Amino acid sequence: MEKYLPSSPTESESEDSPERPTTPGGSEYPYLPEQWKEGWKYEYVPLDNPFMTEARRVAKTESSDRKQQTGSVLVNANGEIIGRGANFSPLHAELRAKFERGEIDDERCERVKAGSPTGTGYELCEGCSSKYHSEPTAIRNAEELGNDTHGASLYLWGHWWCCKDCLDAAEAAGIGQVYLVEDSDRLFNKTHPDNLDGSLLKQEVEAPV
Ligand SMILES: [Zn+2]
Ligand SMILES: [Zn+2]
Repeated sequence: MEKYLPSSPTESESEDSPERPTTPGGSEYPYLPEQWKEGWKYEYVPLDNPFMTEARRVAKTESSDRKQQTGSVLVNANGEIIGRGANFSPLHAELRAKFERGEIDDERCERVKAGSPTGTGYELCEGCSSKYHSEPTAIRNAEELGNDTHGASLYLWGHWWCCKDCLDAAEAAGIGQVYLVEDSDRLFNKTHPDNLDGSLLKQEVEAPV
């Protein structure tokens, strides 16, 4: 008696996962959370989006970083800003203050002096810890103000992707969506061909608030 053998899945059937997203400009993200497989992706807004304008203001007024200033604002479902934060590191701020008082010749921390590529070398400097990035700083600010972060969106100015620690912190806080600036991979990516000398970044960082 002949047995009926079900056909094995064809190759096309096993390839129904979505394509790994890239930036609108076609750059590969250095890190993406696993949820991209379920369709998670960054959303993009113009620089003059009011929440992005506020994130930019926070970055330029509160950051302890001179070269790559970042700012985050959290916005709830009613469109209210519930938390704000810039990348602010007490150790970096202290180095900068000492440099400005002429006590040290170089304000750079050990990680920056070592030329660590983006997303690496955090063990070299406590001040570079991801907890001082603008995203967790904004989450802590919302919590300190007693605001519920669940279901909020995060607007990030000054960077073109979020590191794993920051996206983990956002997920733990119930933040679903992250908005970046249109063209952020060109503006804020120091290794982008248009930005190799940091000139676009520098223009954006130095432009008036
Ligand atoms: Zn550092
Ligand atoms: Zn981060």
